[in-house]
Parts: sequence; structure tokens; C-alpha cells
Amino acid sequence: MGTISKILGLALTAGGAVILAYGMGPDAGGLSFILFTVGLVVMSVGFSLLTAGRKKEEVKASLPTVTEIRCNGCDFKEIRDYEKGDYILKPLEANCPKCNGKMTIEGVYVVREESDQDRF
Ligand SMILES: [Zn+2]
Repeated sequence: MGTISKILGLALTAGGAVILAYGMGPDAGGLSFILFTVGLVVMSVGFSLLTAGRKKEEVKASLPTVTEIRCNGCDFKEIRDYEKGDYILKPLEANCPKCNGKMTIEGVYVVREESDQDRF
């Protein structure tokens, strides 16, 4: 299925490019706008077929990341979603809900689907 859609996508992209090139050329005459549009549509359909498989891989690659926060004053620990700019040992502006002390990021982890379900 993946290979067929890639070949089809490649053929459509190439065919669309040919139609597009012909539409822009001097031979097309009054049909140039129609050929241009058809070529563009065919090309984009072919291109989306080509990249359809790749999108799935991207989703799989971006695994959820969590940040582990620890209070400097007591034993408070929290795990929340990773936010941009988080790094290990970063001091946080928010204070500990238990003792109002300063909190530090203790770790940043990538959540792996299978193993982390037991951990939490
Ligand atoms: Zn605390």
C-alpha cells in the first residue's frame, strides 16, 4: 500500500509538472490557465500522496515529554508536561505548594508508551 501510493504520488507529481510546464509554455494558447490550474491540482495531490507516509512517522517521533519538578525545601515532587525552555536544574519561578520554597527541575523525560503506563 505504501509503495503503491508513493509510485502513484510520484507519477502524479511528475504528470502535474508536465501539464504545468505545458500550460506555461507558448503552445497552450487559450487553455494555458486551465492547464496551469489542472497541473497545480494534480501536482499537489501527487505530493500529498508522496508525503502521506512521512507524516505518520513524524507523529510517532514526537513522543510526549514530561518535566519532573522537585522542591528544594521539602520532599514535594511533581511531574507535569514539558514546556519549551525547560531544562534540568532550571530554577522555577513558581513556589512549592507545600512549603512555599523554591523549586527546581530535576529531570526531563521522554514518555515511552509501554513502560511509562506502569510507572505512573
Ligand atoms: Zn516544598
